[in-house]
Amino acid sequence: MAWLTESGPVSAHTRAVGAMAFPCYLVTGERAALVDGAISSAAPLLEEHFGPGKLTPAWVLLTHTHYDHVGGLGLLRRLLPGLQVAGSAVAAATLEKPRVREFVLRMNRQEEGMYGLAQVWGDREVPLEPEDLRVDRVLRDGEHLDLGAGVRVQALEAPGHTRCSMVYLVEPDRLLVGGEALGAYVSPDEVQAQSVSSFREYVASLERLAGLELEAIALPHHGVRTGADARSHIPVALETARRFRARVRELHAQGLAPAALAAALTGELRHGLSAGQPEKAFQLNLEAMIRAVLEER
Ligand SMILES: [Zn+2]
Repeated sequence: MAWLTESGPVSAHTRAVGAMAFPCYLVTGERAALVDGAISSAAPLLEEHFGPGKLTPAWVLLTHTHYDHVGGLGLLRRLLPGLQVAGSAVAAATLEKPRVREFVLRMNRQEEGMYGLAQVWGDREVPLEPEDLRVDRVLRDGEHLDLGAGVRVQALEAPGHTRCSMVYLVEPDRLLVGGEALGAYVSPDEVQAQSVSSFREYVASLERLAGLELEAIALPHHGVRTGADARSHIPVALETARRFRARVRELHAQGLAPAALAAALTGELRHGLSAGQPEKAFQLNLEAMIRAVLEER
């Protein structure tokens, strides 16, 4: 079993709750911590699984502050009074910006229509206020969160996808849970770069994580890789990132500007699991990554 896409246990102390496109990873000791705050469209799933008499995590650990990782915080805070949201210092500062909060709100409301939320949720509004989007506790790089019963989560800064990215090492499971700082899995030979804020930092973060001994790696949208697959994930992500940078430089040398380069590379990169994202979003994300590569020459 090397590739898990169903909800259920992913390691001794961690389980995936809900659909794999937007999984919630719950780490449980005597207390529990949920990695990431989902999107508002996940409201039916959050309401089904979390609250008094159901799953009651004490923490939400943010991998980063993109709208699809924090949009469920409003509902989670109401279902779980006293919930503490933790993340990097940069995540805390990012979520303090009114402009960021407003964007996160707008994107979540926009996607509720796309996911047909009203059909399963009715015409209730999913609670999500600007002040729900905040970090209650800043985690320093390397800091451990003790969940009791011998279960600990170590927070590791991993900038490069965003400046605020953090990944979480679950011990004793040797499970690494993260956002797109861990790349986008496409196939065993391809883990696409997600280096939106800085290519150099994205690679440096992966190089640092390559030193960890892992039994499993839990990805933000595509499932969990275990055993040998988990161990090859980061080396393949590094290799794919370097291939991407070489290709960008090659096309740039032929005179292509970032937008044209993104259009040209979309055809090469948008396939398999990476084709799930709408083409326009894919291309804009790609253009941002291309600019990041070219700025770092
Ligand atoms: Zn992201």
